[in-house]
Amino acid sequence: MRAARVKKCKVCKADFKPYQTMQKVCSPSCAAKFASNETRKQYKREALEYRKRTETKKSQLSKAQAAVNGYIRTRDKGKPCISCEGFKVKSSLHGSILHAGHWHGRGAYPSLRFVLWNIHLQCAHCNEHLGGHVIGYEAGLAKKFGREWVEKRKQQGREWKPNHYSKKDLERIATLFRAKDRLYKRLFRGD
Ligand SMILES: [Zn+2]
Ligand SMILES: [Zn+2]
Repeated sequence: MRAARVKKCKVCKADFKPYQTMQKVCSPSCAAKFASNETRKQYKREALEYRKRTETKKSQLSKAQAAVNGYIRTRDKGKPCISCEGFKVKSSLHGSILHAGHWHGRGAYPSLRFVLWNIHLQCAHCNEHLGGHVIGYEAGLAKKFGREWVEKRKQQGREWKPNHYSKKDLERIATLFRAKDRLYKRLFRGD
């Protein structure tokens, strides 16, 4: 003898015995709620798709950059500013603010905007007020990776082919780096 399978109502979470195989809810009132929830979900999905379709490339570019920069801040967490080794951080009022700073600036080198060796943790002071503090930046990189590395990367930067990102590419970059950030945090930062 087989006992009738008890299900949990999708709306009120109460147990009920379905009289139809596909039944998801316990009662007509829950069925009405379920239908309106589905409509709302459908509406949300469509609104999201619409936003994605109409979103400008500029906005997607900044979202992708925010995702890459967020990952860099996690990667370099606990390290001092690349350009001033934390000197300004200690003396600045806004000392705790650390940015992901570009070595080769995004204005002159737009194709290096997502290149990881080109981005390091930098204090707000160096990043914003000292125009990226490039001299200190290079000294910091040389200390970390050696002079040769700096020269090699500089050469690479000069020869870097321009990238043409489609909106789809930018969306992928944003998704990828958000995931990388989460994973890095979980594996190495104990969050
Ligand atoms: Zn119910
Ligand atoms: Zn600094």
